[in-house]
Amino acid sequence: MAGEPQADCLFCKIVAGEVPATVVRQTETTVAFRDINPQAPTHVLVIPKAHYPNAAALAAAEPRLAADLLREAGEVAAQEKVDAYRTVLNTGSGAGQTVFHVHAHVLAGRGLEWPPG
Ligand code: AMP
Ligand code: ZN
Repeated sequence: MAGEPQADCLFCKIVAGEVPATVVRQTETTVAFRDINPQAPTHVLVIPKAHYPNAAALAAAEPRLAADLLREAGEVAAQEKVDAYRTVLNTGSGAGQTVFHVHAHVLAGRGLEWPPG
């Protein structure tokens, strides 16, 4: 069923507490934790607790949960005391997606080039 935990999903395991993570925020519907391979001084991943493979699938199935994710990206930035940040949602391996449980990267604390690579 859509949104149900997937046995082979790393981020579902983080939600379940089966894989450790440095959690910085948590809500009823989301978890935010530090990226294990940070690409900026602030690099936090925000995920819904429910499993959806990417942002479009999440928004199609549960638009309010998609909004929770984006709001939490802002809350992470506020908590990290950064006023400028980039939110990245990779979709597909060709775009660099390696974990197929939707996650918003929140990147901040260094110059962020535009356009991004
Ligand atoms: P993406 O490449 O957009 O799918 O992003 C996946 C991100 O998850 C990468 O930036 C990884 O560094 C990060 N990552 C992988 N395993 C872990 C983990 N156990 N804890 C925290 N972040 C992780
Ligand atoms: Zn998952």
